[in-house]
This record gives sequence, C-alpha cells and structure tokens, in this order.
Amino acid sequence: MTITHNDITASKTYFDSSKGLLVRNIFGPTIQGEMPYAGTPAVFLRLGGCHRGNKSAPNGCSFCDTDFRVSHSSYMTADEIGSAIRRAWGSSYSPKGRLLVVSGGEPFLQSSLMYVCYELILKLGVKIQFETTGDIYLDLQYPLHTVVLSPKRGNSKQYSTNLAGWFSPDSRFPNVFMRHLIEEDGPYRTLHPLIYGMRPEKVFLSPIAVWKKALPEGVLPSLFLPDISDYLDMAKTRANYMAAVYRAVHYGWRVSGQMQLLFGVE
Ligand code: SF4
Repeated sequence: MTITHNDITASKTYFDSSKGLLVRNIFGPTIQGEMPYAGTPAVFLRLGGCHRGNKSAPNGCSFCDTDFRVSHSSYMTADEIGSAIRRAWGSSYSPKGRLLVVSGGEPFLQSSLMYVCYELILKLGVKIQFETTGDIYLDLQYPLHTVVLSPKRGNSKQYSTNLAGWFSPDSRFPNVFMRHLIEEDGPYRTLHPLIYGMRPEKVFLSPIAVWKKALPEGVLPSLFLPDISDYLDMAKTRANYMAAVYRAVHYGWRVSGQMQLLFGVE
C-alpha cells in the first residue's frame, strides 16, 4: 500500500544511544504473518528511522508502506520497553518464551539495540526475531536468535553488496534467513545473487502486493474486505504470487505470503 509520507535518511550518527532505543511503536499481541514464525503470536517492537527513509533518494524505497518516522518516535530505555511488552501481553500471559519481533525502519542503525535486546532476553525470557535489510552488520559478543534479511534495491536498483558478513563462519547469528521480495515484472524480478548459494530452507520469497490506492485511514488491509479489489490490484498481485511459486518450485525455496493481509490484522 502506498503511504505518501517521507522521512529523513537516518544514519547511525542520528541516534543517541545513551537514551535507549528510538521506538516508533510497540504493538500486539498479534500474529507474525510471514517467514519462519508465520502464524506465531508475537509482540512487535518497531523502531524509528531508516537509512533508506527518504523515498526519493537514490537508496530510498519509494514503495515502502511502513511508518517508521523519526518525528513520530520516542526514546525508551530497556526497562520501559520491557514494561510495555509485559503490558502488551497483559496479566494473563507471561512474555517468557514468547516471540518478540524487532523491526523498523532499520533496527541495526541503533547501536544500543543489542544491549537492550540482551536485557529483554535476560529479564523477560523472550525470543527475538529481527527484521533487517542486512545493510548494517553488527559484530556481536553473544549469539542471538533469528535474523531475517530482506535486501532492498532502492531507487538506484542496486542491491547491498555487504550481506556476506551475516553468513561468515564466525557470525554470531546462527539462524539467518532471507526474505526476498519478488515480483513478476520490475526491480524485484532479479534476485540478490547471494540467494542462490543459500540452503533452500533458509529462503523465503515474499510476493509484493500491488496497491491501486491507499485504504481509508484506520482500515487494515484484508482480502476479506468486500471492496478490496478497489484498492488492491488483484491481477498484478496474483502475478507476483505466481512468480514466487514458480521460483520456489524450481529452487526448493518457500513462498511466504502475508497472513496479516489475509486476516486484516496489524
Ligand atoms: S529499508 Fe525497509 S523500512 Fe526502510 S524504507 Fe526500505 S522498505 Fe521501508
């Protein structure tokens, strides 16, 4: 879905790590709609800021539908984030063993990310799945949970060339997956070359949903909306799904549709 807002190009120096993490919102519990944890209840920690946040810059993503605006984000300490996650789960459920999805923007821009996440693991017992472009590799002191790389081409059509660190033998991320956008026709018809050397079970193809116009404010996209075809380009979206199916069959990869689009949940 096209969101018309723009944002700054946030570099690593934009963030003040002494204040904690710049958080856009914490929401859930809902369902993680994609990739290895598809269908799993999760709370989401969405961080503010992206190095590709200026939609018209050469490395910007003009199609981005995520609201990570720094002007709508606030700094939170590890304790404040932990309390918000506990509140999200409510008094009936403990976050222990539950999934926390950390996304952005680009979470790995923020140098306090790992400190805060270790605190959350130690104090709440959550397991964490990170979503990142993979553009920024952090060398870690301790291994962490699952990372899903989603490489972006930006307006310049160039993929990041520095993804290899995530897969090096001494990488502290033992569980790295790739979620690759795919479309029948357009920049994401060509896949990042790294994908062809990955173990097939680590690869998810994510078909791009093509929107004709934005849904009314506050309405979540769902295939069950009676007038969804006024907004979603069914033919192009289906063509992208079929492009994913053909490649997955050929290479032994998996297709990761968006469950949240089916159900209409955040
Ligand atoms: S990298 Fe991801 S979050 Fe950042 S602008 Fe591109 S699509 Fe949006």
